[in-house]
Amino acid sequence: MKLVFATNNTNKLEEVQEMLPKSIQLLGLKDINCFEEIAETETTLEGNSKLKASFITDKFSFDCFADDTGLEVESLNGKPGVYSARFAGEPYSSENNMQKLLKDLQKHQNRKAQFRTVICLHIATQEFLFEGVCKGEILTKKEGTEGFGYDPIFRPEGFSQSFATMSSLEKNRISHRGIAIKKLVDFLKDTYS
Ligand code: IMP
Repeated sequence: MKLVFATNNTNKLEEVQEMLPKSIQLLGLKDINCFEEIAETETTLEGNSKLKASFITDKFSFDCFADDTGLEVESLNGKPGVYSARFAGEPYSSENNMQKLLKDLQKHQNRKAQFRTVICLHIATQEFLFEGVCKGEILTKKEGTEGFGYDPIFRPEGFSQSFATMSSLEKNRISHRGIAIKKLVDFLKDTYS
Protein backbone atom coordinates (compact mmCIF):
# COMPACT_ATOMS: atom_id res chain seq x y z
CA MET A 1 0.00 0.00 0.00
CA LYS A 2 0.99 3.63 -0.54
CA LEU A 3 0.99 6.05 2.39
CA VAL A 4 1.72 9.78 2.24
CA PHE A 5 3.75 11.51 4.98
CA ALA A 6 2.80 15.21 4.78
CA THR A 7 6.37 16.48 4.76
CA ASN A 8 9.09 17.65 2.39
CA ASN A 9 11.81 16.69 4.85
CA THR A 10 13.71 13.82 3.19
CA ASN A 11 15.45 12.87 6.45
CA LYS A 12 12.10 12.34 8.16
CA LEU A 13 10.83 10.35 5.14
CA GLU A 14 13.86 8.05 5.05
CA GLU A 15 13.78 7.53 8.80
CA VAL A 16 10.14 6.42 8.77
CA GLN A 17 10.43 4.32 5.58
CA GLU A 18 13.28 2.36 7.20
CA MET A 19 11.01 1.47 10.11
CA LEU A 20 8.03 0.41 7.98
CA PRO A 21 7.32 -3.05 6.56
CA LYS A 22 8.22 -3.35 2.85
CA SER A 23 4.52 -3.69 1.99
CA ILE A 24 4.03 0.00 2.84
CA GLN A 25 5.51 2.49 0.37
CA LEU A 26 5.97 5.93 1.87
CA LEU A 27 5.47 9.00 -0.33
CA GLY A 28 6.39 12.61 0.45
CA LEU A 29 4.48 15.71 -0.64
CA LYS A 30 6.60 16.15 -3.77
CA ASP A 31 5.88 12.55 -4.80
CA ILE A 32 2.17 13.38 -5.07
CA ASN A 33 2.83 16.76 -6.73
CA CYS A 34 1.76 18.73 -3.70
CA PHE A 35 3.84 21.91 -3.76
CA GLU A 36 1.55 24.08 -1.65
CA GLU A 37 2.56 25.27 1.81
CA ILE A 38 0.06 23.70 4.24
CA ALA A 39 -0.68 26.48 6.73
CA GLU A 40 -0.41 25.49 10.40
CA THR A 41 -3.18 27.74 11.69
CA GLU A 42 -4.49 25.71 14.62
CA THR A 43 -3.64 26.45 18.27
CA THR A 44 -2.69 22.91 19.30
CA LEU A 45 -0.31 20.22 18.02
CA GLU A 46 -3.30 17.88 17.64
CA GLY A 47 -5.16 20.53 15.62
CA ASN A 48 -2.26 21.18 13.25
CA SER A 49 -1.54 17.50 12.62
CA LYS A 50 -5.25 16.91 11.89
CA LEU A 51 -5.34 19.97 9.63
CA LYS A 52 -2.37 18.79 7.57
CA ALA A 53 -3.69 15.22 7.27
CA SER A 54 -7.14 16.51 6.26
CA PHE A 55 -5.57 18.72 3.58
CA ILE A 56 -3.99 15.67 1.93
CA THR A 57 -7.10 13.48 2.33
CA ASP A 58 -9.40 16.15 0.91
CA LYS A 59 -7.23 17.27 -2.02
CA PHE A 60 -5.35 14.09 -2.95
CA SER A 61 -7.46 11.21 -1.59
CA PHE A 62 -4.41 9.34 -0.30
CA ASP A 63 -4.10 7.53 3.01
CA CYS A 64 -1.69 9.76 4.89
CA PHE A 65 -0.26 11.01 8.15
CA ALA A 66 1.07 14.35 9.39
CA ASP A 67 3.09 15.34 12.45
CA ASP A 68 3.48 18.44 14.56
CA THR A 69 5.98 18.99 17.38
CA GLY A 70 6.39 21.56 20.12
CA LEU A 71 8.65 22.26 23.08
CA GLU A 72 6.55 22.71 26.22
CA VAL A 73 8.29 24.52 29.08
CA GLU A 74 6.69 24.03 32.51
CA SER A 75 7.41 27.44 34.06
CA LEU A 76 6.22 29.18 30.86
CA ASN A 77 2.85 27.42 31.05
CA GLY A 78 3.66 25.13 28.13
CA LYS A 79 5.13 27.78 25.83
CA PRO A 80 6.44 27.91 23.14
CA GLY A 81 4.42 24.73 22.39
CA VAL A 82 2.65 24.84 19.07
CA TYR A 83 4.49 28.10 18.26
CA SER A 84 7.99 26.60 18.75
CA ALA A 85 9.17 27.32 15.19
CA ARG A 86 8.02 30.97 15.42
CA PHE A 87 8.75 31.71 19.11
CA ALA A 88 11.02 34.75 18.55
CA GLY A 89 9.03 36.07 15.58
CA GLU A 90 10.30 36.78 12.08
CA PRO A 91 12.74 36.08 10.55
CA TYR A 92 12.24 32.53 11.89
CA SER A 93 15.52 31.22 13.25
CA SER A 94 16.47 28.51 15.72
CA GLU A 95 19.21 30.73 17.12
CA ASN A 96 16.76 33.56 17.89
CA ASN A 97 14.25 31.08 19.35
CA MET A 98 16.89 29.60 21.67
CA GLN A 99 18.14 33.03 22.79
CA LYS A 100 14.59 34.15 23.57
CA LEU A 101 13.91 31.00 25.56
CA LEU A 102 17.16 31.31 27.54
CA LYS A 103 16.28 34.94 28.33
CA ASP A 104 12.66 34.18 29.29
CA LEU A 105 13.89 31.46 31.66
CA GLN A 106 16.53 33.59 33.41
CA LYS A 107 14.16 34.50 36.24
CA HIS A 108 12.83 30.95 36.70
CA GLN A 109 14.29 28.17 38.88
CA ASN A 110 12.19 25.46 37.26
CA ARG A 111 13.70 24.57 33.88
CA LYS A 112 11.66 21.40 33.28
CA ALA A 113 10.44 20.97 29.71
CA GLN A 114 9.24 18.35 27.29
CA PHE A 115 9.14 17.88 23.57
CA ARG A 116 5.80 16.52 22.36
CA THR A 117 4.99 15.14 18.92
CA VAL A 118 1.50 14.37 17.69
CA ILE A 119 0.93 12.29 14.57
CA CYS A 120 -2.47 12.18 12.87
CA LEU A 121 -3.07 9.17 10.61
CA HIS A 122 -5.89 9.09 8.08
CA ILE A 123 -6.41 5.60 6.80
CA ALA A 124 -9.42 3.82 5.26
CA THR A 125 -11.64 6.82 6.18
CA GLN A 126 -10.62 6.60 9.85
CA GLU A 127 -8.49 8.97 11.95
CA PHE A 128 -5.96 7.90 14.59
CA LEU A 129 -3.68 10.01 16.81
CA PHE A 130 -0.28 8.95 18.21
CA GLU A 131 1.74 10.90 20.77
CA GLY A 132 5.40 10.85 21.74
CA VAL A 133 6.83 12.75 24.72
CA CYS A 134 10.45 13.30 25.73
CA LYS A 135 10.92 14.91 29.15
CA GLY A 136 14.00 16.87 30.12
CA GLU A 137 15.23 20.33 31.00
CA ILE A 138 16.44 23.53 29.38
CA LEU A 139 20.17 24.12 29.88
CA THR A 140 21.53 27.55 30.72
CA LYS A 141 23.69 27.67 27.60
CA LYS A 142 24.08 25.91 24.27
CA GLU A 143 25.90 22.58 24.12
CA GLY A 144 26.77 20.53 21.00
CA THR A 145 26.38 21.07 17.27
CA GLU A 146 24.27 18.13 16.06
CA GLY A 147 20.56 18.15 15.35
CA PHE A 148 18.36 21.20 14.80
CA GLY A 149 15.92 23.58 16.48
CA TYR A 150 16.25 23.68 20.27
CA ASP A 151 18.55 20.61 20.44
CA PRO A 152 21.60 22.51 21.85
CA ILE A 153 19.67 23.70 24.93
CA PHE A 154 17.55 20.58 25.65
CA ARG A 155 18.89 17.84 27.91
CA PRO A 156 16.71 14.70 27.95
CA GLU A 157 15.98 13.10 31.33
CA GLY A 158 18.52 10.42 32.30
CA PHE A 159 21.28 11.93 30.14
CA SER A 160 24.07 14.32 31.09
CA GLN A 161 24.28 16.16 27.77
CA SER A 162 22.05 17.94 25.27
CA PHE A 163 20.30 16.42 22.25
CA ALA A 164 22.83 18.31 20.11
CA THR A 165 25.67 16.10 21.38
CA MET A 166 23.93 12.89 20.24
CA SER A 167 23.99 11.06 16.92
CA SER A 168 20.63 11.01 15.13
CA LEU A 169 20.38 7.26 15.83
CA GLU A 170 20.88 7.83 19.56
CA LYS A 171 18.43 10.74 19.61
CA ASN A 172 15.72 8.94 17.59
CA ARG A 173 15.73 6.08 20.08
CA ILE A 174 14.55 8.32 22.92
CA SER A 175 13.05 11.34 21.19
CA HIS A 176 9.41 12.49 21.13
CA ARG A 177 9.29 11.99 17.34
CA GLY A 178 10.97 8.57 17.56
CA ILE A 179 8.43 7.44 20.17
CA ALA A 180 5.40 8.74 18.20
CA ILE A 181 6.70 7.20 14.97
CA LYS A 182 7.28 3.85 16.67
CA LYS A 183 3.65 3.87 17.88
CA LEU A 184 2.47 4.65 14.34
CA VAL A 185 4.70 1.96 12.80
CA ASP A 186 3.59 -0.69 15.33
CA PHE A 187 -0.04 0.15 14.57
CA LEU A 188 0.53 -0.08 10.81
CA LYS A 189 2.45 -3.36 11.16
CA ASP A 190 -0.28 -4.92 13.32
CA THR A 191 -3.12 -3.73 11.13
CA TYR A 192 -1.83 -3.65 7.56
CA SER A 193 1.03 -6.08 7.03
P1 IMP B 1 7.94 20.43 13.45
O1 IMP B 1 6.49 20.31 13.79
O2 IMP B 1 8.64 19.10 13.38
O3 IMP B 1 8.16 21.28 12.23
O4 IMP B 1 8.63 21.22 14.67
C1 IMP B 1 8.29 22.56 15.00
C2 IMP B 1 9.46 23.24 15.67
O5 IMP B 1 9.75 22.59 16.92
C3 IMP B 1 10.76 23.17 14.89
O6 IMP B 1 10.87 24.25 14.00
C4 IMP B 1 11.82 23.25 15.99
O7 IMP B 1 12.01 24.58 16.40
C5 IMP B 1 11.15 22.52 17.13
N1 IMP B 1 11.53 21.10 17.14
C6 IMP B 1 10.79 20.05 16.69
N2 IMP B 1 11.43 18.89 16.88
C7 IMP B 1 12.60 19.20 17.46
C8 IMP B 1 13.71 18.41 17.90
O8 IMP B 1 13.74 17.17 17.79
N3 IMP B 1 14.73 19.09 18.44
C9 IMP B 1 14.75 20.43 18.58
N4 IMP B 1 13.76 21.22 18.18
C10 IMP B 1 12.68 20.61 17.62
